[in-house]
Amino acid sequence: MKIFTSRKAYYLYNPDTLNYDRVIPSYKDRSLIVLGHLSTGIAFGLLTFFAMMYLIDSPMEAELRKENKLLQTQYEILSLRLESASDVLEDLQQRDENLYRAIFQTESIPESVRKSGFGGSDRYEHLLELSNSDLVISTTQRMDILRKQLYIQSNSLEQLIIAGKDLEERSKCVPAIQPISNKDLNHTASGYGMRIDPIYRVPRMHYGMDFSAKVGTDIYATGDGVVTYAAWRQGYGNCIMIDHGYGYETLYGHMSKYKARVGQKVKRGQIIGEVGNTGKSVGPHLHYEVLVNGIHHDPSKYYYMDLTPEEYDRMLQLAENHGQVMD
Ligand SMILES: [Zn+2]
Repeated sequence: MKIFTSRKAYYLYNPDTLNYDRVIPSYKDRSLIVLGHLSTGIAFGLLTFFAMMYLIDSPMEAELRKENKLLQTQYEILSLRLESASDVLEDLQQRDENLYRAIFQTESIPESVRKSGFGGSDRYEHLLELSNSDLVISTTQRMDILRKQLYIQSNSLEQLIIAGKDLEERSKCVPAIQPISNKDLNHTASGYGMRIDPIYRVPRMHYGMDFSAKVGTDIYATGDGVVTYAAWRQGYGNCIMIDHGYGYETLYGHMSKYKARVGQKVKRGQIIGEVGNTGKSVGPHLHYEVLVNGIHHDPSKYYYMDLTPEEYDRMLQLAENHGQVMD
């Protein structure tokens, strides 16, 4: 067994002689001893260095940690702002559905389309490696959904602008005034419905409304449209028909004069002819019909631009009770 002393000699027990022999350590032995001490020192030093590194931040690390904290706070603020932007958008979506789409009679956008997100979870895979990846992914996801919903909403509003323009166009075309000047309603003769035929004296369906007026009284187009007929017609005498589009047509009978020709575009209120007593008629009057998709409608329902509700009531009474249909 060796007893180490670096420079001095040491004694080694010899069992043969039963004595302690003096041994001088060789240069090699001494080098090994020095090396041993040295490596223990280095190992201890490294261990201390790494322990310090782990426990205490370098100035650069401290800076990065601060920056990271700041970024996280900013992300949280961004996330809150996105939430309030989503609320504003949701309000707009509800108005769009419940108000605008109802007014313009357009189809609603299904909830599944409005609320749809983006498919595939691997879309955000590259964000998983980031620190605070949950926060970053949820914020990014929210931003993506908001962007998509905004796109859908802006498309929807564009559709509504088109629908609004169409509605404006349509409202110009729908028959909406009386075909002759009848402010005091004195010209209301007979309305739509079953009436006694003035010539054959039997009950017959009267498909229009009669306005008694002097020969030569102006007749107006009741909505924008195109004249499709301006000629004699069996029973109706001199007759004009106007196609207003959107399924609406009007007919004007027993006229004395035409003031529009076939193919001519006319505006609401434009004079198209004069009252007369032509065809099957018992006196000067205008027979006026409204057709929607080829089916006769009660014309009295199409004077809403002309009459107040009170005037409308009075006109209905007159049309119902006033003597004889003039055909
Ligand atoms: Zn009639």
